[in-house]
Amino acid sequence: MDAVPSYLEQLYAAGLLLPTGVDGLYGRSRMFEEVVEHIATRLGRWGRERKAELLRFPPAMQRDRLVRAGYFKSFPQLAGTVHAFCGNDRDHRAMLRCMEVGDDAWLDQQEPTDLALTPAACYPVYPIVAQRGRLPASGLLFDVRSWCFRREPSLDPTRMQLFQMQEYVRIGSPVQVLEFRDGWMEYGRHLFATLDLPCEVDVANDPFFGRSGKVLADSQREQKFKFELLVPVTNAEKPTAVMSFNYHGDHFGQAWNIRTYDGDVAHTACIGFGLERIALALFRHHGLDTRAWPADVSATLGQSA
Ligand code: ATP
Ligand code: ZN
Repeated sequence: MDAVPSYLEQLYAAGLLLPTGVDGLYGRSRMFEEVVEHIATRLGRWGRERKAELLRFPPAMQRDRLVRAGYFKSFPQLAGTVHAFCGNDRDHRAMLRCMEVGDDAWLDQQEPTDLALTPAACYPVYPIVAQRGRLPASGLLFDVRSWCFRREPSLDPTRMQLFQMQEYVRIGSPVQVLEFRDGWMEYGRHLFATLDLPCEVDVANDPFFGRSGKVLADSQREQKFKFELLVPVTNAEKPTAVMSFNYHGDHFGQAWNIRTYDGDVAHTACIGFGLERIALALFRHHGLDTRAWPADVSATLGQSA
């Protein structure tokens, strides 16, 4: 008997995702991309109604800024830095000779640049806010979206190495940012109900690296700093986080010296949406062809048949 095709194999067969030779890196079809854009537009409505400031950045950022944000302390295993050839003609000839014989030694010619790949859409925002001076009394609200890189190759299509994250970022007093985070935990449930997707919200932790990371993860859970909204996608027993609700305390406020209207160190929170993960949840539950999706789901997404 033939084995049941995995979800990834089904997505390939339907032409929604295209293999690129790298686990976790996919091409996307028009139908897949249209669903992603509809989700992004639907999510964007909340921020438009509240006059969130929309900011978009390329998928790379200054490496030193990622260092200052503490990323390499907590998640060195996920980070990607950009290297480039910086040699002369002779170095170039040596590089080509290595390549001809299929020798990886040509990589010795690649030198670190000042760039790192953006691991979450909110990282570029904090230093820019810090440069603006003290926050207004009502704090700040941003709508950001970026391609994000995480070095976590996997055959699970919901775990990509490059994916698109949309986020709302709130910066202000502890009361302001916690009210925002907790409000979204309610609104997130409502949103997924309107997409006919089963979901649960649970306390979570980030994948902090190494032995000391275990302590950080436990403390993050204990303090209830991170929650995730989970939907069964590739594994019915182990649902996938499609959205996260993160309270950072004063971590970014301290790192960048962001000050509230009253001069205190600002607190921050972000709500992160995995656009591909939400699309993959929709395709899993409503079928691999959007033309056959329930009318109420298409209406919520503003899709025309
Ligand atoms: P996970 O626990 O699954 O590794 P995470 O907690 O690291 O996810 P966040 O850092 O909170 O994820 O990122 C916000 C959102 O971005 C997640 O809720 C998820 O929807 C999406 N996301 C995170 N990692 C990936 C990935 N490797 N591929 C696709 N989407 C992702
Ligand atoms: Zn964030």
